[in-house]
Parts: sequence; structure tokens; C-alpha cells
Amino acid sequence: MALIVHKYGGTSMGSTERIRNVAKRVAKWARAGHQMVVVPSAMSGETNRLLGLAKELAPATPGAGHYRELDMLASTGEQASSALLAIALQAEGLEAVSYAGWQVQVKTDSAYTKARIESIDDERVRADLDAGRVVVITGFQGVDEGGNITTLGRGGSDTSAVAIAAALKAHECLTFTDVDGVYTTDPRVEPDARRLKTVSFEEMLEMASLGSKVLQIRSVEFAGKYKVPLRVLSSFTPWDIDIEEEAKSGTLITFEEDENMEKAVVSGIAFNRDEAKISVLGVPDKPGIAYHILGAVADANIEVDVIIQNLSKDGRTDFSFTVHRNDYARAVDLLKDKVLPTLGAADIVGDTKICKVSIVGIGMRSHVGVASKMFRVLSEEGINIQMISTSEIKTSVVIDEKYMELAVRALHKAFDLDQPTA
Ligand code: ADP
Ligand code: ASP
Ligand code: MG
Repeated sequence: MALIVHKYGGTSMGSTERIRNVAKRVAKWARAGHQMVVVPSAMSGETNRLLGLAKELAPATPGAGHYRELDMLASTGEQASSALLAIALQAEGLEAVSYAGWQVQVKTDSAYTKARIESIDDERVRADLDAGRVVVITGFQGVDEGGNITTLGRGGSDTSAVAIAAALKAHECLTFTDVDGVYTTDPRVEPDARRLKTVSFEEMLEMASLGSKVLQIRSVEFAGKYKVPLRVLSSFTPWDIDIEEEAKSGTLITFEEDENMEKAVVSGIAFNRDEAKISVLGVPDKPGIAYHILGAVADANIEVDVIIQNLSKDGRTDFSFTVHRNDYARAVDLLKDKVLPTLGAADIVGDTKICKVSIVGIGMRSHVGVASKMFRVLSEEGINIQMISTSEIKTSVVIDEKYMELAVRALHKAFDLDQPTA
């Protein structure tokens, strides 16, 4: 008997029929003798629907208090799906109880819409498990010190599940989704993408942070910090497939590098369409410029990603960086108001139609020429690189959004990701 956490994403919870299927699958695991905790997302489309309603009502620049209400609103999607799942589990003849984040409690900081989990109280859940109940806990949400409901950022149910698995010292956290594992790249963009049987924690962390939405980055961070065995697998297999087979399916995130991984120089390609580029033109090239520009942006709580500064000409330079598209308008306004006048820069221009494409692989550490191969492949496709950023195990380029699919596919092929590994 083991304590197992299952997480089901929005598509997997997308209708009453699918919820019934989830209940049957969970019942199979419970009847095999496991203690079961289940973390569902809202039914697919529900979070978008709720946030869309708020957008209809809110003015362009929402005031203080707006983000608290967004969390109060968006968290209801998971509350509904959790109750429905508990009802479906009961209909399967199991004892089941559902809890919202504040009932458990899943304690977070107060950063509404992107709160971080600080601690999880496991007492109530353990008592239910020991009494033979299946426990359903809402994904995506928690409660801050003041008793306000918070949410963990889009895709945050992954993080809820892994954090709950860590708090309960679960045997494994199984993330059920609409694909059957982690692929070399998003299989919706490259049909030749291959499923990885295992992926190292470090690579998964990079892939998630570079845009692979299959796992929210914070869930991978939690898995690494608390060494939670984490597997991504399909909820679309028949619910009654053999449990042993199911337990070995999908992709396992591993914490040790094995020989096979070392062989793959590039193991995956990630992309991100959520960023926008801002360029401050004609900046006087003197000490403190980066601090002056990016300090103002950071003070407004806007995260900056890729940064480049051009060589100066006649004592002036151009300075470009990317931010999340949601923060783009705010960042441009802020720079125009506060930075442009004091800095004496010539202008601020922006581009929201960009994307970032990245190659990821721990093998890049010991191989030279990987980045240059990436640049060659893109040049052969006639794709202009606007920005470059590298680290030990990844190279990212910012390119025009319209070439994203072409770039992903060309790189996937050039790095032999469509070929089975030895
Ligand atoms: P859920 O609702 O189950 O959390 P998500 O939509 O958040 O599901 O994440 C699953 C999706 O992630 C897949 O449908 C797929 O399109 C996308 N995805 C992006 N990159 C990858 C990848 N490398 N491997 C698998 N899926 C990926
Ligand atoms: N329902 C939330 C979202 O759509 C959380 C999740 O699905 O993980 O982002
Ligand atoms: Mg998700």
C-alpha cells in the first residue's frame, strides 16, 4: 500500500463523462489498496471563461484590490470540479471528501494571481486517508495569512499536486493530462515529436521555464527540492488498463543522470509566444544605464527575460529586453513616463509579435558547436535571429512569431529528435 497523488488537468476533467472516467481510474487505484489524494484542475475553458468575465467589467488599468477579486473568482473553477469529482467517486461506491485550499490549508504568500505555496498542513488529509477516504484537494489555489484566497498562476494545479505530494511524503505524484508524456517538443506543433521515457529534472526545469506548458515550472522546482517522484501520463487511456502497466507509462522525471541522457546532446525544444520585446533607442552609453532602465521595470514588479545591449556608436547605444506580453503595455508606459525624460534616450519601440525558441539538453555541457548548429539551421531557413541567450544546458533565440513552427520543426529534425535514441 502506498500514498499516491493523482493530478488531472482541465481537459481530463472537461465533462461529466470525463469526470466519471477520472473517478473510475482513481477507484481502481484505491481498490488496489493505495491511499489516494486527487488534485483536479477546473473543467477545461472554465478559468478562461471566468477571467474573461472580469475583463469585460474591469477598466483598462485596474486599481488596488482587483487581483484579490480575480483569485476569489478564478479559484471557483477548481472548487466546482473538486466537488464534482468527490460526488463521482461516491457514486463509484468510495468514501470521498473534497477540500478547497483554505480548508486544508494550503498556505501561500499574498501575491495574488501568482502566489507561492509556503506550507501545507497535512493533518486533516491524513485523518481522512487513515479513515479510508479518498481526498480531493482543489488545484491552483491556497490561502494567505490574512485568510484571503490566492491562486498560483496559470497551470498552477501541477504545483498544487506536487506540493501536496511533498507535504504528505507521497510515494509518487502522477500528473494525468491530454498527452501521454513529455515529448521532445510540443506534439501539437511537431507531429514527429517523440515521447521521452525519462527526462532529467534539470532538463524538465529548463523546458518548463522556456515555455513547455506540460508542467508548470514551480511544480518541477518543488519536485526537485523535495525529491518527489513525478510522472506525466495520459488520462485518455481506458480507465481499466492494467494498473502495473499504467504505473510505468508516460514520462518519469528523474533526479539522476543516466548514460542514455548523456548521449542526447539536445533532448527537447521549447517555445514561448508569451513575450514581447521592448527597445530603448539612442541611450547615452555610460555606467548605470542598465540599472536605470531595468531597475524601474523591476520596481514595477515586471519580470525581464532576455536582454541585449548593442555596441555603442557616437556614445549612444540601443538596449532591448523582453517581458511577458501581459506586462508589455505597462512597461512601455512606465519607460515613456519615467525613464525616457531622465535618461535622454531617443525613443522606445516595441514588438509583440515575437517568440522565443530554445534547445535544451544536459549533453550541451560537454559538446561544443551546438549553438552554432542552431544558428546555421535557422539561417538556412531564412529566419532572422533578433536576440540570443545561452546557459549551460540551453540556447534560446528570439525570432519573428510567424516563423515559430518552421523553426521548431527544422531544429527538431536537425538535432535528430525524431529518431529513436540508442
Ligand atoms: P493540463 O490541462 O492537463 O494541465 P496542459 O494543456 O496544461 O494540460 O498541458 C498539456 C499540453 O502541453 C499538451 O496538450 C501539449 O500541447 C503541451 N506541451 C507543450 N510542450 C510539450 C512537451 N514537450 N511534451 C508534451 N506536451 C507538451
Ligand atoms: N485552472 C487553472 C488554469 O487554467 C490551473 C490549471 O489548470 O492548472 O490555469
Ligand atoms: Mg496544465
